[in-house]
Amino acid sequence: MANQFLIMLSRAKGVRDIATRLPMTRSVVDRFVAGETTPQMVEVCRRLTDDGLLGTVDYLGEDTADLGQAAAVTWEYVGALAALAEAGIADRVEVSLKLSAIGQFLGRDGEKVALDNARQICQAAREAGTTVTLDMEDHTTTDSTLGILRELRADFPDTGAVIQAYLRRSEADCRDLTHAGSRVRLCKGAYAEPESVAYPDERDVELSYVRCLKVLMYGEGYPMVATHSPRLIAVAQDIAQRAGRGNDDFEFQMLRGVRPNAQTKLAGLGHRMRIYVPYGTDWYGYLVRRMAEKPANLGLFVRGLVDR
Ligand code: FAD
Repeated sequence: MANQFLIMLSRAKGVRDIATRLPMTRSVVDRFVAGETTPQMVEVCRRLTDDGLLGTVDYLGEDTADLGQAAAVTWEYVGALAALAEAGIADRVEVSLKLSAIGQFLGRDGEKVALDNARQICQAAREAGTTVTLDMEDHTTTDSTLGILRELRADFPDTGAVIQAYLRRSEADCRDLTHAGSRVRLCKGAYAEPESVAYPDERDVELSYVRCLKVLMYGEGYPMVATHSPRLIAVAQDIAQRAGRGNDDFEFQMLRGVRPNAQTKLAGLGHRMRIYVPYGTDWYGYLVRRMAEKPANLGLFVRGLVDR
């Protein structure tokens, strides 16, 4: 219930306007967000790669309202990819992209706008020597996002997909995505969803996660195991071993600021460990979703609001 309330807050414009003007301390935002500018993001990624970690960079922003904003986000990604290439780390840092930020819902032509913009970003990623993964948003966008993914993969087959284990449909979606070369990030899912489409019970979400993991690990694609749960990480290691996968045949992914010790520990064990690195000025919705996932973060956030 508290989670659903927080997720609703992440979308309430009035609350967002007030909260982003409050004296938030840098330490709270910095824990999860890698700065507001491209050079700051590149510096964070450079440190990650120096520590033997991989990155996936998200330029914060969703629900783009007009064509100009969609083009500006696209341009930001193209610039970020060029900057990562110039820093010599694009082989270890890719980008994560929300289609809503590049126009997916701009009227009847939204999907075409998003596809055209995503193509530009995929082309820039190819030139930089890296890849793009399409983030997954709420369930009303799943079919549209998977449709755009299919079209993008015709020209850019290494474009990554995201599957959310909390959706009842996800095991079937995983089966459709197990072909050779198919990069698939499996996560639990971060949006407030109705019971008609998503498992309301955490236990059922974890069981679905394990079923999806099995489909992906025994398939021919490249599974990207995005979770902080020690239990699911252990299950993934076990299934990967049974499926005959070595450490280079799949990867773990976690969010910047969440379980950093576990991140370095898994990398130290020889696993490929990729960190999701958000940056940009529009950090509010992203942070509120992190609060919803872990109530302890709410305390951190509130302390940040009053701490000068
Ligand atoms: P949980 O059960 O939530 O967490 C397990 C443990 O991890 C907790 O007990 C706690 O110790 C720790 N933990 C978890 N979250 C936090 C936190 N915020 N702060 C501190 N500790 C924490 N969701 C989408 O809907 N679409 C996406 O495209 C998407 N992309 C993602 C990409 C990556 C790389 C990752 C890691 C997550 C992504 N998510 C996405 C979010 C995901 O769906 C979950 O909401 C999030 O990962 C929490 O679930 P969990 O599996 O880590 O398990």
